[in-house]
Amino acid sequence: MLSASFDTLPLSPATLDNLQRLGYLQMTAIQAAALPTALLGKDVIAQAKTGSGKTAAFALTLLANLNPRRFAVQSLVLCPTRELADQVTTEVRRLARSEDNIKVVTLCGGVPLRGQLATLEHGAHIVVGTPGRVLDHLERGSLGLAALNTLVLDEADRMLDMGFVDDIGKVASQCPPVRQTLLFSATYPEGIAKLAAQFMREPLTVKVEAQH
Ligand code: ADP
Ligand code: MG
Repeated sequence: MLSASFDTLPLSPATLDNLQRLGYLQMTAIQAAALPTALLGKDVIAQAKTGSGKTAAFALTLLANLNPRRFAVQSLVLCPTRELADQVTTEVRRLARSEDNIKVVTLCGGVPLRGQLATLEHGAHIVVGTPGRVLDHLERGSLGLAALNTLVLDEADRMLDMGFVDDIGKVASQCPPVRQTLLFSATYPEGIAKLAAQFMREPLTVKVEAQH
């Protein structure tokens, strides 16, 4: 279901042009529910089914928080699988097209470390990855999060199912406490509320029911 236009949001003219070029003419329901609050810098828990446009909801927020001239990792998106991390990376790059030279790096398990270490030496603005591998880089010192302003937990329900809760906790403990945290999920099991209570500050919960 489509709702309001993106130009009701406090987005830059370049971002609005880019959205139009991508054919994103109107916000999806979850974008319309989450973005006005997320773009104020507040923590948001967003629940909506797969395919509802959750990626752009957090990607536009982390891009709004990003200073492209500061070449340091300012956003981290944790995803359950490599496939999902690759999809998120693609979408973030498409949405970042209106800014110059925003570097997005993907850090997933099952991929040789060597290439990731070499890539990280060149720096990044945004990291997308799976919790275990991101933690591995933090522990090795190949990734630092001191400049981070936005932490995203994508597909949080699946990350819980896959047993990533401890790794997520360790990663979050290395993020600056003053930050924006966004949690996206298709379902809302009890574990999500616990996760949110641990890592988020007075989050707004928005939920879009499946359309029948
Ligand atoms: P989810 O994470 O909720 O499963 P995605 O973020 O992967 O969903 O989005 C599903 C598809 O919808 C993607 O192909 C994405 O490019 C597209 N999409 C997202 N937002 C919009 C929009 N506002 N207008 C048109 N297409 C959109
Ligand atoms: Mg998604």
